[in-house]
Amino acid sequence: MSEFAEIPARARPMAAWPASTTAVAGVIGFPVRHSLSPLLQNAAFAAMGLDWSYLAFEVAPGSLDRAVAGAAALGLRGLSVTMPHKDAAARLATRRSRQVRRLGAANTLTFDAGTIFAESCDGAGLLDDLRVGAGFDPAGQRCGVIGAGGAGRAAVLALAEAGAEEIVIVNRTVAPAWRSAALAPQVVRVGRPADLRGMDLVIQATPVAMVSSGLVGEPAPAERAQPAEPAQSAQLTGPAGSAEEGAAIIAGVDPSWFGAGQLVVDLVYDPPFTPFLLEAQRQGATVRNGLGMLVYQAARQIRLWTGAEPPLSVMWGVVSGDSPPAVAHGTATGPAKSSSFESSSFEPIDGTREPD
Ligand code: NAP
Repeated sequence: MSEFAEIPARARPMAAWPASTTAVAGVIGFPVRHSLSPLLQNAAFAAMGLDWSYLAFEVAPGSLDRAVAGAAALGLRGLSVTMPHKDAAARLATRRSRQVRRLGAANTLTFDAGTIFAESCDGAGLLDDLRVGAGFDPAGQRCGVIGAGGAGRAAVLALAEAGAEEIVIVNRTVAPAWRSAALAPQVVRVGRPADLRGMDLVIQATPVAMVSSGLVGEPAPAERAQPAEPAQSAQLTGPAGSAEEGAAIIAGVDPSWFGAGQLVVDLVYDPPFTPFLLEAQRQGATVRNGLGMLVYQAARQIRLWTGAEPPLSVMWGVVSGDSPPAVAHGTATGPAKSSSFESSSFEPIDGTREPD
């Protein structure tokens, strides 16, 4: 007799469901219910034929240490970390990449043989999207970054390391801007909003228009669609004029200043067309939302955790609103972790916890 014989047919686990061998990863944040990461990562694991499953865990501020200790004890393989836990995740890790040490924040935790390795894939994911998705190489370019939180700092460090000629930070308050500028003082300065006129690249890195920030209404399901694929034109074809007027100016930066020859990126992806992005597009700028960065940083997390190459086209299909492929758990769990550690910017540190 099958072990499921007494379970009503509708409730029987299918072969596609996670099993006792399934490797588990997830995302922790607060809030986290808006996150696209479970869809994205599970579709990738399924397409890769890996017996992995990815869940969302809403972890209240102040509870991260207990959540991470529990995740390690339960044998989770990795965690994506989102607001507001990125700084705390960097602190409680036992090993940190060079990027994490410089930023003081992590968006990826990898559990391996009793260690918790912290990485930041945000900056690298942004660079991947700029280069591959938008065909933009920051080397020698003049760049502006609005915002000086975790994403803004990651953007500044990534652009500086990619050889940007000049980076100007504009933020609502001054102290975080100076902290961000200290990441690369030779090319970064704190500026005024008008300094962003004429920049080659402008990155909007505040959550002002983000749906889960509570500042805008929930989008209609159709509005979640991602309009641009990485190898295609970076020009959005969004519902011009549909965004709320008057909400476009952020930290004093008016997107109507931008125009042809400029690339404007809004790291927000929900909604995909922020008022800021729509106005910049209306003025002739090439625009791009945060879905590309989301996809590329998720791809980097998958490489780190599994050591295998993620299917970018499948991941783009998911954020484009295409149905994820039929879920069929594979049997492989990927190469041994040691190989994925070698491919990261991991730098071994003596002792279990480096000084902060
Ligand atoms: P964060 O650490 O909380 O930083 C928020 C930043 O936004 C701060 O500089 C803050 O200014 C500024 N800000 C907040 N409200 C503002 C307002 N009403 N007007 C002007 N400035 C305001 O957040 P984060 O982690 O950097 O994330 C920022 C955005 O990037 C979020 O929407 C997040 O979803 C997005 N993001 C996207 C990706 C992706 O893969 N696409 C990855 C990471 C983050 P003060 O310093 O003055 O408070």
